[in-house]
Amino acid sequence: MAWTDEDAAWMNRAIILARKGNAGSGTNGIGCVIVRDGELIGEGCNEVEFRHDPTAHAEIVAIRRAGQRLESPALRDAVLYTTLQPCGMCTMASIWAKIGRIVYGAGRDDVHAEYFEDRHLDTVDFIRDAFRTDLTLEGGLMAVECAALYVPADAIIPKDKQFNR
Ligand SMILES: [Zn+2]
Repeated sequence: MAWTDEDAAWMNRAIILARKGNAGSGTNGIGCVIVRDGELIGEGCNEVEFRHDPTAHAEIVAIRRAGQRLESPALRDAVLYTTLQPCGMCTMASIWAKIGRIVYGAGRDDVHAEYFEDRHLDTVDFIRDAFRTDLTLEGGLMAVECAALYVPADAIIPKDKQFNR
């Protein structure tokens, strides 16, 4: 994948947000930045615990902020950068938000399965099957740095302690 310096700079900003999320109280280490025409229009980290809201994933937080800022639900031509491959909910939200491009850092196989809700379906499946054909998905930008934010794929975690159970 040929990443631009701009891609790297925005992902770096998402990583900084994720680190802040890990350090904050009630926020979690997933960072998301939404950009359009080279301008930041929304960003956020995971606020599920902080807001007592299971839908407050970083991507949803950033999409809400971008919509408020643009006073529009349609984020056409925007690029969404996220440190971790989006879950099904966030992928669907991106489709509905008319986002033009999703770029993620760590992929599903780079981290523990507890970060994902579905055993088989993932971001790629939802995008492949969407009515929209103008949304692209690219993964693996700064994947090593991003994966380091999360529990490794081979970690042993009791089932009752996993996020998705
Ligand atoms: Zn999500």
